[in-house]
Amino acid sequence: MAAQAVESAAVTALRSVLHRVRHAAERSGRHADDVRVIAVSKTKPISLIRQVYDTGHRCFGENYVQEFIEKAPQLPKDIDWHFIGHLQSNKAKSLLAAVPNLSMVQGVDNEKIANHLDRAVSSIGRKPLSVMVQVNTSGEISKSGIEPASCVDLVKHVKFSCPNLVFSGLMTIGMPDYTSTPENFKTLSRCRSEICKELGMLEKQCELSMGMSGDFELAIEMGSTNVRIGSTIFGPREYPKKQ
Ligand SMILES: *Cc1c(COP(=O)(O)O)cnc(C)c1O
Repeated sequence: MAAQAVESAAVTALRSVLHRVRHAAERSGRHADDVRVIAVSKTKPISLIRQVYDTGHRCFGENYVQEFIEKAPQLPKDIDWHFIGHLQSNKAKSLLAAVPNLSMVQGVDNEKIANHLDRAVSSIGRKPLSVMVQVNTSGEISKSGIEPASCVDLVKHVKFSCPNLVFSGLMTIGMPDYTSTPENFKTLSRCRSEICKELGMLEKQCELSMGMSGDFELAIEMGSTNVRIGSTIFGPREYPKKQ
């Protein structure tokens, strides 16, 4: 009974999120189709993810490798999986091997992890992997995310030295406590302008992944094309962040 109530709550919450996303997109002169909603299912059971999947939603995100590797094979193969956040380079290959339907890694923040992913794609023989470069927009010391001043160089490395990766855009978490300020969003946007200028790319060739449960509408109004929403859809997480 309790489990049933939790499961339908997630479906209701997803619908409400999609509605809010559409309105925020329209307020910024865009369309809901311009914004990818990643349902962040970390710490959540297969049964609950399945409920959300059954509504037709296909885009999900995880960020603990071990948990991801255990869950993904138990879920449908047409899920569009995103790995979000920092990935340890020694886990790249096992992640790619276990999740053939991994569509993007949002969290490349150094050359080493880019190289590991690039080699893993080629050794497994899967199709090229889309990646986003993770930027530390907080101005504070953080263990993940490259400094804004270094993002052009890392993007160049991905584009020109990693033939099995497809550079897709930029991602930020915001502040170390996972909240965001408008300044975080502006900084990520500025990084995109710089990259597009340096590399002769169009803005639409560089997605922005910013905004989580507490701030996704503001992020969309400030240009986000990917929002990563966990607790607002699935409820509070049962165990704290690790890794
Ligand atoms: C957990 C997580 C999210 C989702 O956080 P919520 O606040 O629950 O929406 C988004 N991005 C990353 C990188 C995460 O680890």
